[in-house]
Amino acid sequence: MQHVGQRVRLGGWVHRRRDLGGIVFVDLRDRAGIVQVAVGPAAPEDVRRTAGGLTGETVVEVEGEVVARPGNMKNPELATGDVEVHPSKLTVVGLAVTPAIPVARAKGEELPSEELRLKHRHLDLRRPEMQANLVLRHRLLQRARRTLTELEFLEIETPILTKPTPEGARDYLVPSRVHPGEFYALPQSPQIYKQLLMVAGLDRYFQIARCFRDEDLRNDRQPEFTQIDLEASFVGPEDVLGFVEAVLVALWDEAGQQVAGPFPRITWREAMERYGTDKPDLRYELAITDWTTQVGPLGVPFFDAALKNGARVRGLAVKGGGGTLSRKDVDQLAETAKQLGGSGLAWVKRQGEQISGSVGKYFTADTLGALGIGDGDAALIAAGPDRVTSPVLDRVRQEVIRRLGAQPTATHAFAWVVDFPLFEPDPETGKPVFAHHPFTAPHPDDLPLGRKSPFEMRALHYDVVYNGNELGSGSIRITDRQVQYWVFHQLGLSDDEIAKRFGFLIDGLNSGAPPHGGFAIGFDRVVMLLAGAASLRDVIAFPKTTAARALFEGAPAPAHPADLRALHIKVEP
Ligand code: ASP
Repeated sequence: MQHVGQRVRLGGWVHRRRDLGGIVFVDLRDRAGIVQVAVGPAAPEDVRRTAGGLTGETVVEVEGEVVARPGNMKNPELATGDVEVHPSKLTVVGLAVTPAIPVARAKGEELPSEELRLKHRHLDLRRPEMQANLVLRHRLLQRARRTLTELEFLEIETPILTKPTPEGARDYLVPSRVHPGEFYALPQSPQIYKQLLMVAGLDRYFQIARCFRDEDLRNDRQPEFTQIDLEASFVGPEDVLGFVEAVLVALWDEAGQQVAGPFPRITWREAMERYGTDKPDLRYELAITDWTTQVGPLGVPFFDAALKNGARVRGLAVKGGGGTLSRKDVDQLAETAKQLGGSGLAWVKRQGEQISGSVGKYFTADTLGALGIGDGDAALIAAGPDRVTSPVLDRVRQEVIRRLGAQPTATHAFAWVVDFPLFEPDPETGKPVFAHHPFTAPHPDDLPLGRKSPFEMRALHYDVVYNGNELGSGSIRITDRQVQYWVFHQLGLSDDEIAKRFGFLIDGLNSGAPPHGGFAIGFDRVVMLLAGAASLRDVIAFPKTTAARALFEGAPAPAHPADLRALHIKVEP
Protein backbone atom coordinates (compact mmCIF):
# COMPACT_ATOMS: atom_id res chain seq x y z
CA MET A 1 0.00 0.00 0.00
CA GLN A 2 2.93 2.31 0.62
CA HIS A 3 3.36 2.62 -3.16
CA VAL A 4 -0.13 4.04 -3.80
CA GLY A 5 0.07 7.16 -5.91
CA GLN A 6 3.56 6.35 -7.22
CA ARG A 7 4.40 6.09 -10.89
CA VAL A 8 6.12 2.78 -11.65
CA ARG A 9 7.81 1.03 -14.53
CA LEU A 10 7.46 -2.74 -14.48
CA GLY A 11 8.59 -5.58 -16.69
CA GLY A 12 7.32 -9.10 -16.49
CA TRP A 13 5.42 -12.03 -17.96
CA VAL A 14 1.67 -12.16 -18.60
CA HIS A 15 0.67 -14.77 -16.04
CA ARG A 16 -3.05 -14.55 -16.72
CA ARG A 17 -5.35 -12.21 -18.59
CA ARG A 18 -9.05 -11.78 -17.83
CA ASP A 19 -11.15 -9.81 -20.26
CA LEU A 20 -14.34 -8.58 -18.58
CA GLY A 21 -15.60 -6.59 -21.56
CA GLY A 22 -15.01 -3.03 -20.40
CA ILE A 23 -11.88 -3.86 -18.42
CA VAL A 24 -8.91 -6.16 -18.95
CA PHE A 25 -6.98 -7.49 -15.93
CA VAL A 26 -3.43 -8.66 -16.54
CA ASP A 27 -1.56 -10.53 -13.82
CA LEU A 28 2.01 -9.52 -14.39
CA ARG A 29 4.62 -11.90 -12.97
CA ASP A 30 8.33 -11.59 -12.25
CA ARG A 31 10.74 -13.16 -9.75
CA ALA A 32 9.29 -11.11 -6.90
CA GLY A 33 5.69 -12.17 -7.47
CA ILE A 34 2.53 -11.02 -9.21
CA VAL A 35 0.89 -7.64 -9.57
CA GLN A 36 -2.42 -6.87 -11.20
CA VAL A 37 -2.49 -4.41 -14.09
CA ALA A 38 -6.00 -3.07 -14.71
CA VAL A 39 -6.75 -1.62 -18.13
CA GLY A 40 -10.12 0.18 -17.89
CA PRO A 41 -12.03 2.53 -20.17
CA ALA A 42 -9.91 5.48 -18.96
CA ALA A 43 -6.69 3.88 -20.28
CA PRO A 44 -5.19 5.26 -23.53
CA GLU A 45 -6.58 3.67 -26.68
CA ASP A 46 -3.29 1.97 -27.71
CA VAL A 47 -2.88 0.49 -24.22
CA ARG A 48 -6.41 -0.97 -24.38
CA ARG A 49 -5.72 -2.42 -27.81
CA THR A 50 -2.44 -4.04 -26.71
CA ALA A 51 -3.97 -5.41 -23.50
CA GLY A 52 -6.84 -6.95 -25.45
CA GLY A 53 -4.47 -8.99 -27.58
CA LEU A 54 -2.00 -10.16 -24.95
CA THR A 55 -1.21 -13.88 -24.88
CA GLY A 56 -0.04 -15.82 -21.83
CA GLU A 57 3.71 -15.77 -21.04
CA THR A 58 4.36 -12.78 -23.30
CA VAL A 59 6.83 -10.29 -21.80
CA VAL A 60 5.58 -6.72 -21.44
CA GLU A 61 6.75 -3.44 -20.03
CA VAL A 62 4.25 -1.27 -18.22
CA GLU A 63 4.36 2.30 -17.05
CA GLY A 64 1.61 3.59 -14.84
CA GLU A 65 0.29 4.55 -11.45
CA VAL A 66 -0.17 2.38 -8.38
CA VAL A 67 -3.77 2.65 -7.24
CA ALA A 68 -5.50 1.19 -4.15
CA ARG A 69 -8.06 -1.42 -5.08
CA PRO A 70 -11.62 -0.84 -3.89
CA GLY A 71 -12.29 -2.82 -0.64
CA ASN A 72 -14.30 -5.60 -2.32
CA MET A 73 -11.65 -6.07 -5.03
CA LYS A 74 -8.70 -6.74 -2.69
CA ASN A 75 -7.01 -10.11 -3.04
CA PRO A 76 -5.67 -11.32 0.33
CA GLU A 77 -3.85 -14.24 -1.33
CA LEU A 78 -1.51 -11.91 -3.18
CA ALA A 79 1.26 -9.91 -1.48
CA THR A 80 0.34 -7.02 -3.77
CA GLY A 81 -3.39 -7.77 -3.51
CA ASP A 82 -4.36 -4.38 -2.07
CA VAL A 83 -3.19 -2.44 -5.12
CA GLU A 84 -3.18 -2.51 -8.89
CA VAL A 85 -1.40 -0.61 -11.61
CA HIS A 86 -3.26 1.64 -14.06
CA PRO A 87 -1.00 1.81 -17.09
CA SER A 88 -0.38 4.80 -19.28
CA LYS A 89 2.01 2.78 -21.45
CA LEU A 90 2.04 -0.93 -22.29
CA THR A 91 4.60 -2.44 -24.65
CA VAL A 92 5.06 -6.00 -25.81
CA VAL A 93 8.79 -6.69 -25.68
CA GLY A 94 8.85 -10.49 -26.01
CA LEU A 95 5.97 -12.23 -27.71
CA ALA A 96 5.25 -15.80 -26.51
CA VAL A 97 3.72 -18.58 -28.53
CA THR A 98 1.33 -20.84 -26.60
CA PRO A 99 3.56 -22.38 -23.92
CA ALA A 100 4.27 -26.11 -24.26
CA ILE A 101 3.42 -26.57 -20.60
CA PRO A 102 1.29 -24.24 -18.51
CA VAL A 103 3.03 -21.92 -16.08
CA ALA A 104 -0.11 -20.53 -14.44
CA ARG A 105 -2.13 -23.33 -12.91
CA ALA A 106 -5.54 -23.39 -11.30
CA LYS A 107 -5.57 -24.33 -7.61
CA GLY A 108 -5.08 -28.08 -7.23
CA GLU A 109 -4.29 -28.54 -10.94
CA GLU A 110 -1.70 -31.26 -11.35
CA LEU A 111 1.77 -30.58 -12.67
CA PRO A 112 2.63 -31.81 -16.16
CA SER A 113 4.68 -35.03 -16.24
CA GLU A 114 8.28 -34.66 -15.10
CA GLU A 115 9.46 -35.55 -18.57
CA LEU A 116 7.62 -32.57 -20.03
CA ARG A 117 8.78 -30.33 -17.20
CA LEU A 118 12.41 -31.26 -17.85
CA LYS A 119 12.01 -30.91 -21.58
CA HIS A 120 10.61 -27.40 -21.29
CA ARG A 121 12.70 -26.44 -18.30
CA HIS A 122 12.69 -22.69 -19.01
CA LEU A 123 8.92 -22.73 -18.58
CA ASP A 124 9.00 -25.05 -15.59
CA LEU A 125 11.52 -22.78 -13.88
CA ARG A 126 9.06 -19.89 -14.19
CA ARG A 127 6.84 -21.52 -11.58
CA PRO A 128 7.06 -19.69 -8.24
CA GLU A 129 7.82 -22.99 -6.41
CA MET A 130 10.89 -23.61 -8.59
CA GLN A 131 12.02 -20.03 -8.26
CA ALA A 132 11.70 -20.27 -4.48
CA ASN A 133 13.86 -23.43 -4.50
CA LEU A 134 16.59 -21.71 -6.50
CA VAL A 135 16.44 -18.62 -4.29
CA LEU A 136 16.87 -20.85 -1.24
CA ARG A 137 19.73 -22.66 -2.95
CA HIS A 138 21.45 -19.37 -3.57
CA ARG A 139 21.00 -18.26 0.04
CA LEU A 140 22.33 -21.55 1.39
CA LEU A 141 25.37 -21.34 -0.87
CA GLN A 142 26.16 -17.83 0.28
CA ARG A 143 25.70 -18.85 3.91
CA ALA A 144 28.06 -21.83 3.49
CA ARG A 145 30.65 -19.55 1.93
CA ARG A 146 30.27 -17.01 4.69
CA THR A 147 30.46 -19.58 7.48
CA LEU A 148 33.59 -21.24 6.10
CA THR A 149 35.22 -17.90 5.33
CA GLU A 150 34.63 -16.85 8.94
CA LEU A 151 36.35 -20.08 9.98
CA GLU A 152 39.32 -18.96 7.85
CA PHE A 153 38.83 -21.44 5.03
CA LEU A 154 40.01 -20.33 1.58
CA GLU A 155 37.83 -20.99 -1.46
CA ILE A 156 40.11 -22.58 -4.06
CA GLU A 157 39.07 -24.06 -7.40
CA THR A 158 40.51 -27.35 -8.59
CA PRO A 159 40.52 -28.71 -12.16
CA ILE A 160 37.61 -30.29 -13.96
CA LEU A 161 39.80 -31.88 -16.62
CA THR A 162 41.86 -34.17 -14.48
CA LYS A 163 43.04 -37.66 -13.67
CA PRO A 164 40.79 -40.32 -12.18
CA THR A 165 40.03 -39.78 -8.46
CA PRO A 166 38.51 -42.99 -7.18
CA GLU A 167 35.34 -42.61 -5.11
CA GLY A 168 33.80 -45.93 -5.97
CA ALA A 169 32.12 -44.97 -9.24
CA ARG A 170 33.10 -44.99 -12.90
CA ASP A 171 34.81 -41.95 -14.38
CA TYR A 172 33.48 -39.75 -17.13
CA LEU A 173 36.32 -39.63 -19.62
CA VAL A 174 37.13 -36.79 -22.00
CA PRO A 175 39.29 -37.64 -24.99
CA SER A 176 42.27 -35.43 -25.72
CA ARG A 177 42.45 -34.18 -29.32
CA VAL A 178 46.08 -33.11 -29.14
CA HIS A 179 47.27 -36.31 -27.46
CA PRO A 180 45.74 -39.15 -29.45
CA GLY A 181 44.53 -42.05 -27.31
CA GLU A 182 44.82 -40.12 -24.05
CA PHE A 183 41.97 -39.06 -21.80
CA TYR A 184 41.16 -36.68 -19.02
CA ALA A 185 38.73 -37.78 -16.33
CA LEU A 186 36.11 -35.52 -14.80
CA PRO A 187 36.64 -35.48 -11.03
CA GLN A 188 34.56 -37.82 -8.89
CA SER A 189 35.66 -35.41 -6.17
CA PRO A 190 38.53 -32.95 -5.67
CA GLN A 191 39.99 -35.41 -3.15
CA ILE A 192 43.62 -35.60 -4.24
CA TYR A 193 43.83 -31.92 -5.09
CA LYS A 194 42.54 -30.85 -1.72
CA GLN A 195 45.07 -33.10 -0.04
CA LEU A 196 47.83 -31.59 -2.15
CA LEU A 197 46.64 -28.11 -1.12
CA MET A 198 47.24 -29.20 2.47
CA VAL A 199 50.70 -30.47 1.51
CA ALA A 200 51.25 -27.08 -0.11
CA GLY A 201 50.52 -25.36 3.20
CA LEU A 202 47.16 -23.76 2.35
CA ASP A 203 45.82 -25.00 5.69
CA ARG A 204 42.07 -24.70 5.25
CA TYR A 205 40.40 -25.12 1.88
CA PHE A 206 36.83 -25.26 0.71
CA GLN A 207 35.10 -25.38 -2.62
CA ILE A 208 31.58 -25.54 -3.89
CA ALA A 209 32.69 -28.44 -6.02
CA ARG A 210 30.95 -30.00 -8.99
CA CYS A 211 31.60 -33.77 -8.98
CA PHE A 212 30.90 -36.34 -11.67
CA ARG A 213 30.18 -40.01 -11.10
CA ASP A 214 29.08 -42.41 -13.79
CA GLU A 215 26.90 -44.74 -11.76
CA ASP A 216 24.10 -47.10 -12.60
CA LEU A 217 20.72 -45.48 -12.64
CA ARG A 218 19.38 -44.63 -9.23
CA ASN A 219 16.43 -42.59 -8.32
CA ASP A 220 18.06 -40.19 -5.92
CA ARG A 221 21.39 -39.62 -7.66
CA GLN A 222 22.57 -37.17 -10.28
CA PRO A 223 25.60 -37.94 -12.47
CA GLU A 224 26.87 -34.45 -11.77
CA PHE A 225 26.26 -32.93 -8.39
CA THR A 226 27.51 -30.27 -6.01
CA GLN A 227 29.39 -30.78 -2.78
CA ILE A 228 30.54 -28.35 -0.14
CA ASP A 229 34.03 -29.79 -0.04
CA LEU A 230 36.51 -28.93 2.70
CA GLU A 231 39.90 -29.94 4.02
CA ALA A 232 42.04 -28.71 6.91
CA SER A 233 45.54 -29.32 8.22
CA PHE A 234 46.76 -30.10 11.73
CA VAL A 235 43.34 -31.43 12.67
CA GLY A 236 41.86 -34.57 14.15
CA PRO A 237 38.35 -35.97 13.76
CA GLU A 238 36.96 -33.64 16.47
CA ASP A 239 38.01 -30.55 14.52
CA VAL A 240 36.52 -31.74 11.26
CA LEU A 241 33.25 -32.75 12.92
CA GLY A 242 33.14 -29.30 14.52
CA PHE A 243 33.59 -27.51 11.16
CA VAL A 244 30.87 -29.57 9.53
CA GLU A 245 28.47 -29.04 12.42
CA ALA A 246 29.06 -25.28 12.17
CA VAL A 247 28.18 -25.34 8.46
CA LEU A 248 25.09 -27.51 8.87
CA VAL A 249 23.75 -25.53 11.84
CA ALA A 250 24.20 -22.34 9.78
CA LEU A 251 22.45 -23.83 6.74
CA TRP A 252 19.49 -24.98 8.81
CA ASP A 253 19.36 -21.54 10.41
CA GLU A 254 19.34 -19.93 6.95
CA ALA A 255 16.24 -22.00 6.21
CA GLY A 256 14.64 -20.86 9.47
CA GLN A 257 15.21 -24.09 11.41
CA GLN A 258 17.01 -24.04 14.74
CA VAL A 259 19.32 -26.98 15.38
CA ALA A 260 22.42 -27.24 17.53
CA GLY A 261 25.57 -29.32 17.74
CA PRO A 262 27.25 -31.39 18.92
CA PHE A 263 25.38 -34.12 17.08
CA PRO A 264 25.16 -37.52 18.82
CA ARG A 265 27.50 -40.27 17.60
CA ILE A 266 26.87 -43.88 16.81
CA THR A 267 29.41 -46.41 15.61
CA TRP A 268 28.92 -48.02 12.23
CA ARG A 269 28.67 -51.41 13.93
CA GLU A 270 25.93 -50.25 16.25
CA ALA A 271 24.04 -48.55 13.39
CA MET A 272 24.10 -51.76 11.38
CA GLU A 273 23.12 -53.83 14.41
CA ARG A 274 20.23 -51.67 15.58
CA TYR A 275 18.95 -50.26 12.29
CA GLY A 276 20.41 -52.43 9.55
CA THR A 277 21.78 -49.37 7.73
CA ASP A 278 24.58 -46.83 7.99
CA LYS A 279 22.08 -43.99 7.55
CA PRO A 280 19.44 -44.69 10.18
CA ASP A 281 16.45 -42.45 10.68
CA LEU A 282 16.92 -41.75 14.38
CA ARG A 283 13.69 -39.82 14.76
CA TYR A 284 12.10 -43.17 15.60
CA GLU A 285 13.02 -45.51 18.42
CA LEU A 286 12.06 -48.80 16.77
CA ALA A 287 15.25 -50.90 16.63
CA ILE A 288 16.40 -54.36 15.61
CA THR A 289 17.15 -57.00 18.28
CA ASP A 290 19.21 -60.19 18.04
CA TRP A 291 16.90 -63.05 19.00
CA THR A 292 19.19 -65.92 17.99
CA THR A 293 19.54 -67.41 21.48
CA GLN A 294 15.84 -67.14 22.35
CA VAL A 295 14.53 -68.39 19.02
CA GLY A 296 17.22 -70.92 18.13
CA PRO A 297 15.93 -73.75 20.36
CA LEU A 298 12.28 -73.46 19.23
CA GLY A 299 12.71 -75.78 16.26
CA VAL A 300 11.25 -73.39 13.66
CA PRO A 301 12.27 -74.74 10.24
CA PHE A 302 12.41 -71.21 8.73
CA PHE A 303 15.08 -70.25 11.29
CA ASP A 304 16.88 -73.58 11.52
CA ALA A 305 17.88 -73.55 7.87
CA ALA A 306 19.56 -70.17 8.34
CA LEU A 307 21.12 -70.98 11.69
CA LYS A 308 22.81 -74.08 10.33
CA ASN A 309 25.01 -71.72 8.35
CA GLY A 310 26.05 -69.81 11.44
CA ALA A 311 23.75 -66.89 10.67
CA ARG A 312 21.54 -64.99 13.10
CA VAL A 313 17.85 -64.43 13.76
CA ARG A 314 17.01 -60.75 14.21
CA GLY A 315 13.79 -58.88 14.32
CA LEU A 316 11.68 -55.90 15.20
CA ALA A 317 9.30 -55.87 18.16
CA VAL A 318 6.43 -53.67 16.99
CA LYS A 319 4.52 -52.26 19.96
CA GLY A 320 0.81 -52.39 19.24
CA GLY A 321 1.58 -54.06 15.90
CA GLY A 322 -0.72 -57.00 16.81
CA GLY A 323 -3.69 -54.73 16.17
CA THR A 324 -2.37 -52.14 13.74
CA LEU A 325 -0.44 -54.27 11.26
CA SER A 326 -2.98 -55.95 9.01
CA ARG A 327 -2.52 -59.30 7.35
CA LYS A 328 -2.10 -57.42 4.10
CA ASP A 329 0.63 -55.26 5.66
CA VAL A 330 2.69 -58.23 6.80
CA ASP A 331 2.23 -60.03 3.49
CA GLN A 332 3.49 -56.95 1.66
CA LEU A 333 6.42 -56.61 4.05
CA ALA A 334 7.31 -60.27 3.49
CA GLU A 335 7.15 -59.71 -0.27
CA THR A 336 9.46 -56.69 0.05
CA ALA A 337 11.88 -58.83 2.07
CA LYS A 338 11.92 -61.46 -0.67
CA GLN A 339 12.55 -58.89 -3.37
CA LEU A 340 15.57 -57.67 -1.43
CA GLY A 341 17.11 -61.10 -1.81
CA GLY A 342 16.22 -62.31 1.67
CA SER A 343 14.54 -65.61 2.41
CA GLY A 344 11.51 -63.61 3.46
CA LEU A 345 10.10 -62.41 6.71
CA ALA A 346 8.49 -64.43 9.48
CA TRP A 347 5.90 -62.83 11.72
CA VAL A 348 4.04 -63.43 14.94
CA LYS A 349 1.19 -61.48 16.51
CA ARG A 350 -0.03 -61.67 20.06
CA GLN A 351 -3.57 -60.62 20.90
CA GLY A 352 -4.76 -61.81 24.31
CA GLU A 353 -4.56 -65.59 24.40
CA GLN A 354 -4.30 -65.78 20.67
CA ILE A 355 -0.92 -66.16 18.98
CA SER A 356 -0.97 -66.09 15.20
CA GLY A 357 1.38 -65.53 12.28
CA SER A 358 3.54 -67.40 9.82
CA VAL A 359 5.58 -68.97 12.67
CA GLY A 360 2.97 -68.36 15.41
CA LYS A 361 2.47 -72.03 16.28
CA TYR A 362 6.05 -72.35 17.55
CA PHE A 363 5.64 -69.58 20.15
CA THR A 364 3.98 -69.33 23.56
CA ALA A 365 3.18 -66.22 25.55
CA ASP A 366 6.34 -66.93 27.57
CA THR A 367 8.69 -67.31 24.61
CA LEU A 368 7.23 -64.15 23.09
CA GLY A 369 7.59 -62.35 26.43
CA ALA A 370 11.30 -63.19 26.34
CA LEU A 371 11.51 -61.26 23.03
CA GLY A 372 9.71 -58.29 24.54
CA ILE A 373 6.50 -59.06 22.63
CA GLY A 374 3.60 -58.25 24.95
CA ASP A 375 -0.15 -58.47 24.48
CA GLY A 376 -1.15 -56.58 21.32
CA ASP A 377 2.37 -56.53 19.89
CA ALA A 378 3.88 -58.13 16.80
CA ALA A 379 7.33 -59.48 15.91
CA LEU A 380 8.78 -59.27 12.39
CA ILE A 381 11.69 -61.66 12.09
CA ALA A 382 14.43 -62.23 9.52
CA ALA A 383 17.01 -65.02 9.57
CA GLY A 384 20.26 -65.35 7.70
CA PRO A 385 23.63 -63.69 7.34
CA ASP A 386 23.71 -60.02 8.35
CA ARG A 387 24.48 -58.86 4.82
CA VAL A 388 21.05 -60.23 3.84
CA THR A 389 18.98 -59.48 6.94
CA SER A 390 20.28 -55.95 7.57
CA PRO A 391 18.89 -54.42 4.36
CA VAL A 392 15.66 -56.37 4.84
CA LEU A 393 15.15 -55.19 8.41
CA ASP A 394 16.14 -51.62 7.48
CA ARG A 395 13.47 -51.56 4.81
CA VAL A 396 10.89 -53.30 6.98
CA ARG A 397 11.59 -50.82 9.80
CA GLN A 398 11.02 -47.88 7.46
CA GLU A 399 7.83 -49.43 6.10
CA VAL A 400 6.46 -50.17 9.56
CA ILE A 401 7.14 -46.58 10.63
CA ARG A 402 5.34 -45.34 7.53
CA ARG A 403 2.39 -47.72 7.70
CA LEU A 404 1.77 -47.18 11.40
CA GLY A 405 2.17 -43.41 11.05
CA ALA A 406 4.59 -43.59 14.00
CA GLN A 407 5.18 -40.35 15.88
CA PRO A 408 8.78 -39.12 15.66
CA THR A 409 10.54 -38.35 18.94
CA ALA A 410 12.41 -35.46 17.28
CA THR A 411 12.01 -33.20 14.24
CA HIS A 412 15.70 -33.03 13.38
CA ALA A 413 17.73 -36.17 14.04
CA PHE A 414 21.33 -35.43 13.08
CA ALA A 415 23.97 -37.99 13.99
CA TRP A 416 27.54 -38.90 13.24
CA VAL A 417 28.22 -42.43 12.16
CA VAL A 418 31.83 -43.20 13.09
CA ASP A 419 34.27 -46.11 13.02
CA PHE A 420 33.39 -47.32 9.54
CA PRO A 421 35.30 -50.34 8.27
CA LEU A 422 38.36 -49.48 6.20
CA PHE A 423 37.73 -52.19 3.61
CA GLU A 424 34.72 -54.10 2.37
CA PRO A 425 34.81 -57.50 0.70
CA ASP A 426 34.13 -57.34 -3.04
CA PRO A 427 30.76 -59.14 -3.37
CA GLU A 428 32.10 -61.27 -6.23
CA THR A 429 35.74 -61.98 -5.40
CA GLY A 430 35.75 -61.48 -1.61
CA LYS A 431 38.91 -59.37 -2.04
CA PRO A 432 39.22 -56.03 -0.18
CA VAL A 433 37.82 -52.94 -1.86
CA PHE A 434 37.90 -49.56 -0.18
CA ALA A 435 34.81 -48.63 1.76
CA HIS A 436 35.04 -44.92 0.79
CA HIS A 437 38.24 -43.96 -0.95
CA PRO A 438 41.77 -45.25 -0.66
CA PHE A 439 43.14 -42.17 1.13
CA THR A 440 41.21 -42.75 4.36
CA ALA A 441 43.43 -43.33 7.39
CA PRO A 442 43.07 -46.60 9.26
CA HIS A 443 42.14 -46.28 12.93
CA PRO A 444 45.55 -46.18 14.69
CA ASP A 445 44.42 -48.82 17.24
CA ASP A 446 43.63 -51.24 14.41
CA LEU A 447 46.93 -51.13 12.52
CA PRO A 448 48.06 -54.42 14.14
CA LEU A 449 44.97 -56.11 12.66
CA GLY A 450 46.12 -55.27 9.15
CA ARG A 451 48.06 -58.43 8.56
CA LYS A 452 45.56 -60.98 9.83
CA SER A 453 42.10 -59.50 9.44
CA PRO A 454 42.01 -56.36 7.32
CA PHE A 455 38.19 -56.46 7.21
CA GLU A 456 38.12 -55.89 10.97
CA MET A 457 40.04 -52.65 10.65
CA ARG A 458 38.17 -49.46 11.36
CA ALA A 459 38.83 -46.22 9.50
CA LEU A 460 39.01 -42.65 10.78
CA HIS A 461 35.99 -42.06 8.63
CA TYR A 462 32.74 -40.34 9.55
CA ASP A 463 29.38 -39.80 7.90
CA VAL A 464 26.74 -37.33 8.93
CA VAL A 465 23.13 -38.49 8.70
CA TYR A 466 19.90 -36.56 9.06
CA ASN A 467 16.46 -38.13 9.37
CA GLY A 468 17.57 -41.21 7.44
CA ASN A 469 19.55 -39.32 4.78
CA GLU A 470 23.30 -39.39 4.38
CA LEU A 471 24.37 -35.76 4.06
CA GLY A 472 28.07 -36.33 3.60
CA SER A 473 31.25 -38.07 4.57
CA GLY A 474 34.86 -37.44 5.31
CA SER A 475 37.91 -38.76 7.04
CA ILE A 476 41.36 -38.16 8.38
CA ARG A 477 43.77 -38.96 5.54
CA ILE A 478 46.75 -41.18 5.29
CA THR A 479 49.90 -39.04 5.51
CA ASP A 480 52.40 -41.85 5.96
CA ARG A 481 53.57 -43.02 2.59
CA GLN A 482 54.22 -46.56 3.90
CA VAL A 483 50.62 -46.85 5.07
CA GLN A 484 49.37 -45.41 1.77
CA TYR A 485 51.37 -48.04 -0.12
CA TRP A 486 50.07 -50.77 2.18
CA VAL A 487 46.46 -49.74 1.50
CA PHE A 488 47.05 -49.61 -2.27
CA HIS A 489 48.64 -53.08 -2.09
CA GLN A 490 45.66 -54.43 -0.18
CA LEU A 491 43.49 -53.10 -2.99
CA GLY A 492 45.55 -55.16 -5.40
CA LEU A 493 47.56 -52.34 -7.02
CA SER A 494 51.13 -53.02 -8.09
CA ASP A 495 53.90 -50.47 -7.43
CA ASP A 496 53.87 -49.68 -11.10
CA GLU A 497 50.15 -48.93 -11.11
CA ILE A 498 50.48 -46.86 -7.93
CA ALA A 499 53.21 -44.77 -9.54
CA LYS A 500 51.15 -44.27 -12.72
CA ARG A 501 47.83 -43.48 -11.08
CA PHE A 502 48.82 -41.80 -7.84
CA GLY A 503 52.46 -40.78 -8.28
CA PHE A 504 51.61 -37.12 -7.77
CA LEU A 505 49.98 -37.88 -4.43
CA ILE A 506 52.87 -40.07 -3.28
CA ASP A 507 55.29 -37.27 -4.24
CA GLY A 508 53.21 -34.98 -2.04
CA LEU A 509 53.30 -37.38 0.90
CA ASN A 510 57.07 -37.58 0.47
CA SER A 511 57.61 -33.89 0.71
CA GLY A 512 56.40 -32.97 4.18
CA ALA A 513 52.68 -33.62 4.54
CA PRO A 514 50.89 -32.18 7.58
CA PRO A 515 48.23 -34.30 9.29
CA HIS A 516 44.98 -33.41 7.56
CA GLY A 517 41.37 -34.41 7.12
CA GLY A 518 38.20 -33.16 5.57
CA PHE A 519 34.66 -33.68 4.52
CA ALA A 520 32.15 -33.21 1.72
CA ILE A 521 28.52 -32.24 2.24
CA GLY A 522 26.10 -33.29 -0.49
CA PHE A 523 24.72 -29.84 -1.20
CA ASP A 524 21.87 -30.79 -3.56
CA ARG A 525 20.42 -33.14 -0.94
CA VAL A 526 20.65 -30.46 1.75
CA VAL A 527 18.74 -28.00 -0.44
CA MET A 528 16.15 -30.65 -1.28
CA LEU A 529 15.51 -31.40 2.39
CA LEU A 530 15.42 -27.75 3.44
CA ALA A 531 13.16 -26.80 0.52
CA GLY A 532 10.85 -29.72 1.33
CA ALA A 533 11.24 -30.73 -2.33
CA ALA A 534 10.32 -34.20 -3.48
CA SER A 535 13.36 -34.75 -5.66
CA LEU A 536 16.91 -33.52 -6.23
CA ARG A 537 15.73 -32.51 -9.69
CA ASP A 538 13.51 -29.85 -8.12
CA VAL A 539 16.47 -27.98 -6.63
CA ILE A 540 18.86 -28.15 -9.61
CA ALA A 541 18.22 -25.71 -12.43
CA PHE A 542 19.06 -28.13 -15.25
CA PRO A 543 19.22 -31.67 -13.85
CA LYS A 544 19.58 -35.02 -15.58
CA THR A 545 16.89 -37.69 -15.56
CA THR A 546 17.42 -40.94 -13.67
CA ALA A 547 18.64 -42.29 -17.02
CA ALA A 548 21.39 -39.61 -17.00
CA ARG A 549 19.83 -37.68 -19.86
CA ALA A 550 19.47 -33.93 -20.17
CA LEU A 551 16.07 -33.62 -21.85
CA PHE A 552 16.11 -29.86 -22.24
CA GLU A 553 19.29 -29.54 -24.25
CA GLY A 554 19.24 -33.15 -25.48
CA ALA A 555 22.44 -34.64 -24.12
CA PRO A 556 24.16 -36.99 -24.55
CA ALA A 557 23.91 -36.95 -28.34
CA PRO A 558 25.88 -38.55 -31.18
CA ALA A 559 28.96 -36.55 -32.13
CA HIS A 560 29.66 -35.28 -35.62
CA PRO A 561 31.88 -37.77 -37.52
CA ALA A 562 34.44 -35.03 -38.17
CA ASP A 563 34.70 -34.30 -34.45
CA LEU A 564 35.15 -37.98 -33.70
CA ARG A 565 37.89 -38.21 -36.33
CA ALA A 566 39.68 -35.24 -34.78
CA LEU A 567 39.50 -37.01 -31.43
CA HIS A 568 40.84 -40.23 -32.97
CA ILE A 569 37.69 -42.07 -31.91
CA LYS A 570 35.80 -44.71 -33.81
CA VAL A 571 32.39 -45.68 -32.45
CA GLU A 572 31.55 -49.34 -32.79
CA PRO A 573 27.83 -49.89 -33.14
N1 ASP B 1 36.01 -37.06 -1.23
C1 ASP B 1 34.99 -37.55 -0.34
C2 ASP B 1 33.68 -37.66 -1.09
O1 ASP B 1 33.49 -37.02 -2.10
C3 ASP B 1 34.76 -36.66 0.82
C4 ASP B 1 35.93 -36.59 1.72
O2 ASP B 1 36.48 -37.63 2.08
O3 ASP B 1 36.27 -35.45 2.11
O4 ASP B 1 32.80 -38.37 -0.67
